[in-house]
Amino acid sequence: MPESLSAAHILAEKIDREGPIPLSEYMGIANAAYYAAKDPIGEDGDFVTAPEISQMFGELVGIWLSDLWLRKGSPDNSHYVELGPGRGTLASDALRTMARFSCDPHIHFVETSPVLKEKQAALHHGATWHETIDSLPTDGPLLIVANEFFDALPVEQFISTPDGWRRHMVARERNKFVAIPDTAAVTNQVASTSGGLPDGAILESSPASVQILGDLSSRIAKQGGVLVVIDYGYDRPGTGSTLQAVKNHMPISPFDSPGTSDLTAHVDFHTLGNIAKTRLLSVHGPTEQGQWLKALGIDQRAKKLAESAPKQAESIRAAHHRLTHLDEMGRLFRVMAASSMDWPEPEGFVYGEI
Ligand code: SAH
Repeated sequence: MPESLSAAHILAEKIDREGPIPLSEYMGIANAAYYAAKDPIGEDGDFVTAPEISQMFGELVGIWLSDLWLRKGSPDNSHYVELGPGRGTLASDALRTMARFSCDPHIHFVETSPVLKEKQAALHHGATWHETIDSLPTDGPLLIVANEFFDALPVEQFISTPDGWRRHMVARERNKFVAIPDTAAVTNQVASTSGGLPDGAILESSPASVQILGDLSSRIAKQGGVLVVIDYGYDRPGTGSTLQAVKNHMPISPFDSPGTSDLTAHVDFHTLGNIAKTRLLSVHGPTEQGQWLKALGIDQRAKKLAESAPKQAESIRAAHHRLTHLDEMGRLFRVMAASSMDWPEPEGFVYGEI
């Protein structure tokens, strides 16, 4: 049976057996199957990410990390940690650049997809792989990078109904997956703190993201270092569903053929920033990706690259535009960093403090 059938199959059997399941469980099962089955990144896949658009992206992440590490006094035994490294491209560009500043950390990848692990292994021989963040080293500063990682983690949703707040569940109706309000009332914080919203209002949260961000923040507080999250998301609390599915670069319904499309939700930077603060980290941003890359010198880098490869000048210009322009990735994508209190202030955050 093709892998694509099996996620829908597993979900259908589970729902038929147990009744409706929480949306977060549906998303978790669908995405695990999706990433296990194939490499979805690139023009011939389902979506393209910033490091795949141009080497400039990873290089600037590398410069940003090197700068912090140098100003901290080049601590030994530092670890480069990437969450969901995809094809390993960002790590290649970042680590190559860091090596120029004699910043040569141990490499750790947190990755669940066997297909992507294989691609990463072809580029990074000395890396260590982790299924979860739990096995990351507990000694030495952590330089943690997460580009388009948190958007892939499951979200749960709560919907306001005339009978009060209900969790969004996924059921099956006429052989199709559909989201329905749970029959039981919600007894968590949502019920007590979210009065006054109209019927049909949706509140979203990602417990998995909160858990990971919180655990990593505690480690950074203890071990030193920094975490940078780059993703699409929102800076202020809001309402409405941000769940979306993409297949072949086109949006489709998140409930059509789970496991064959990339299910994502916008990242709640407001909550993630607050979690980092409660773990006593210093939080920077979120700011716009375009602004951050420009502050780090992407204009100058693009110019230099075009000068050294004139035949590629047009594609370099196009990549620069895609990464930075407000109508492209420049505004939708946000950058937020959280650093240990005794580390220097990271560069690139001109405005946008939460
Ligand atoms: N950062 C890469 C890839 C983004 S796609 C880039 O910018 O190109 C999302 C990545 O997260 C993939 O590598 C995927 O396999 C990984 N991933 C998704 N869910 C995960 C999870 N729960 N744990 C670890 N990795 C996960």
